[in-house]
Amino acid sequence: MITNYQRSAGSLVKLLAQEGISDEQVLEAMAKTPRHLFIDDVLQHKAYQNTALPIGQGQTISQPYIVALMTQILRQHGVRDKVLEIGTGSGYQSAILAQLFDKVYSVERIKALQWQAKRRLHKLDLYNVTMKHGDGWKGWTSQAPFQGIIVTAAATSVPQQLLEQLDEGGVMIIPIGDAEQKLMLYTRCENEFKQQVIADVRFVPLVPGDII
Ligand code: SAH
Repeated sequence: MITNYQRSAGSLVKLLAQEGISDEQVLEAMAKTPRHLFIDDVLQHKAYQNTALPIGQGQTISQPYIVALMTQILRQHGVRDKVLEIGTGSGYQSAILAQLFDKVYSVERIKALQWQAKRRLHKLDLYNVTMKHGDGWKGWTSQAPFQGIIVTAAATSVPQQLLEQLDEGGVMIIPIGDAEQKLMLYTRCENEFKQQVIADVRFVPLVPGDII
């Protein structure tokens, strides 16, 4: 039986394909993941729209196109094994990553969001995401190096500690800026980092300092 959610996810995925997401495995993961489980009841009718939505605590679940794009870029660069996500938020991006990479590590500074995200992932039988309550600017040194790092909040400058946690040939995708932001791609080549602009974007800020 095809449920309403599958129908809505189906039309969202069609739209993503039209917008340029071409990786079949990314599209399949997006089609299979019930985004409505990651947002509040009152916003359910918007769950499969291609927009960011509030998730409480002043944070947002990212726009599906951006989630798909960041995931596709990681895969295009050969990342398959170990990924670090900064900003777990609702856990939606983590759920997509969990289906496409062997091991996902995700750091969130707001404990209440992290707990909720963990419950959602377990409900979907996704157990390959390890979470940490901490400051994402510092990354996760004990688990480094990572083939891929994806930051889902905008940093005012490139966090050097994250670059250092990239494996040789590894890639980091991160929004940089404040009022105006660019989604950037950094590729590690020995101790040099190649940088490339991907798109103009709008993310909540990567907050420095204290965790709550
Ligand atoms: N990937 C998320 C997007 C959440 S929005 C999703 O799919 O829902 C960005 C998240 O980054 C927020 O939850 C915010 O609390 C978190 N964040 C902001 N600054 C942070 C920091 N310094 N360390 C860790 N997480 C941070």
